[in-house]
Amino acid sequence: MKKLLIIGNWKLNNNKKIILDFCKKLNSYLSTINYDHHLKISIAPPILHLETFNLILQQLHNNHISLTAQNIDVNILGSFTGETSISMLQEIENIKYVIVGHSERRIHHNETKELIAKKFKLVKSFKLIPILCIGETKEEKNANKAQKICKEQIDTIIQLVGYQAFDKAIIAYEPIWAIGSNQSASTNYIQYMHQFIRHYISRYDINISKKLIIQYGGSVNKKNALEILSVKDVNGVLIGNSSLDCDQFIDIIKCTK
Ligand code: PGA
Repeated sequence: MKKLLIIGNWKLNNNKKIILDFCKKLNSYLSTINYDHHLKISIAPPILHLETFNLILQQLHNNHISLTAQNIDVNILGSFTGETSISMLQEIENIKYVIVGHSERRIHHNETKELIAKKFKLVKSFKLIPILCIGETKEEKNANKAQKICKEQIDTIIQLVGYQAFDKAIIAYEPIWAIGSNQSASTNYIQYMHQFIRHYISRYDINISKKLIIQYGGSVNKKNALEILSVKDVNGVLIGNSSLDCDQFIDIIKCTK
C-alpha cells in the first residue's frame, strides 16, 4: 500500500477557538480508522497557534496528528524583530515538519532560492523534516518552462546541501496557478511533473528518489482528492482552503482508504 502524507496548511486562517473542536473531531475520527502505517496526518496552523495546538494534542493523548510550521527565520537567534527561529519551534513536542519556499513566501516576502536553501539546511540540521515547495507560474507553464523552473528550485538546494539532503525531506509540487484557484492541475499533468521530479533526483541517487515523498498541492478538495491521491507518483497532498474545516479535511482523509 502506498504511504501517504496529508498536511493541512491553514496559512493566516482560523482562530484559537476553532483549534479545540478541530483537534477533538479529527482525533476521534482518526482513532476509528486502521492506519497500517500508510497514513500520516499533519496540520500547519499559524505559528502563534502551534503551542496551543500542541497542548491540546497532548491532552488528547494524540498519537495520530503531528504539527508543521509554515515558515522559520533563517537566523537562530538575535536582533530579528518579528521572527521565529527553528530552535524555538524545536521545543514544541509535536512538530515534525517545516515548510520552506511556499510560493506565497517567495512572492509576497521576496524569498529567493538561495534564502530558501539556507532555511532548508537549517531545518535539516535541527533534525526536523523540511517540505520544499516548488512550482511554476501560469506564464512559465505556458512557455513550457515548468520542469526547468522546478529543476532550478531543486538545484539550489543540491548546491548548498548536496543531493543527500533529499533523504528524509519532502518535496511539495505546487503549481502556483492552481493554488487557491478552485482548479487543480489535471492528473496527467501532476504525474508528468511528479515523475520528472523523481527522475531528476534518481540521477543523483536511485534509493533516495524511490523513497522520496512528493506531495501535490493546489486546490485539492474532497471531490478531486481520490483521483489525485491515486496518481502513481503522488505520495500525499498539501491542502490550503479545504483543510480549514475539519469535516472537509476528514472527507479528504477518507479518500486514502
Ligand atoms: P489551496 O492551497 O489548497 O488553497 O490551493 C494549497 C497551498 O498553498 O499549499
